Amino acid sequence: MSQRLLIFLLAASLLTGGAAPGASTRGRFSPAEAARAAHLVAVLRERYHVIVTGYGQAGPDDGGAWRTLTELEWTAEAVWRLALALGGPESFRHLFGGNVRVARWTVAGLRAFAPPGQLALVGDVVLTDYHFEHGRLYALYLTAHEFGHVLDTRRGGRLSQDLVATLGARHCHPHLPMADCTFDVSAAAEPAPGHPREPYARHSPEEYWAEVFAAYVLPDYYARNSRNHRLGARTRAFVINHLLRP
Ligand SMILES: [Zn+2]
Repeated sequence: MSQRLLIFLLAASLLTGGAAPGASTRGRFSPAEAARAAHLVAVLRERYHVIVTGYGQAGPDDGGAWRTLTELEWTAEAVWRLALALGGPESFRHLFGGNVRVARWTVAGLRAFAPPGQLALVGDVVLTDYHFEHGRLYALYLTAHEFGHVLDTRRGGRLSQDLVATLGARHCHPHLPMADCTFDVSAAAEPAPGHPREPYARHSPEEYWAEVFAAYVLPDYYARNSRNHRLGARTRAFVINHLLRP
C-alpha cells in the first residue's frame, strides 16, 4: 500500500464529509439477504460494539459500499474469531475499550488499513475491494490484522514497542540512547509469522505487532503453507501476557 495514496484518499474522504468512495449498491440485496445483513450488523453492534458504517443508510436494501452479503458474513466471522481468541465478547469489548467502526470503501488494489490518529474519523478499520477478492481466509486474517492495529493505537503504540523490546527485534548501539535503536525483525529471538524471508512484519514495529496478533487469532492462515513461520512460543506468550492476563 502506498502511504501517499492512503493519505490522499483519507484527506479526500474527510473533505467530502467522510463519504465512502464508490457507488452505492442499493437494490443489490434481495429481501432475504437484506434481512440477514441487518441481523449481522445488529449483532456486531450490540454484542461486540463493532459499528458497520454505510450499511442500510437509505433503507434495508441499501448496502452502501458493501457489495454482497458474503462481505458482511466474512467480516462478522472475523469479529467472532477475534472474540473467540480474546476470551469472549465481554473480554473483546473490554480490550477495545469502545466502539470499533468498520468502513467499506470501493477502492481497487489497496489493502485494508487502519487509519492512524485523527484520520480514524473515516473509520477505525477500512475494508477495500481488494480485501474481499483473495478468499475468505485472507479476509478473516487481514481483518484481525487491522483490529490489531486498533488495539495498539488505543494503547499509544505500547503493544508494538513492548513486542520489539521483549523479542529483541532491534539493533541498539551501546553508547546511544534506546530511542536510537533501529527496528530489525530478523534480530528477534523468534522468526516473525509468515513468509520465511520476507515477512510482512519486517516493515515496522506496528506491522510486526499486527502480524503477531493476527497469527494468534487466525493461525490457520499462515499454516496453509508449511514453509511459512508460525507463531513461536515466546511470541505467543507475549500476546497472552499482554491481552489475556488481568
Ligand atoms: Zn498493517
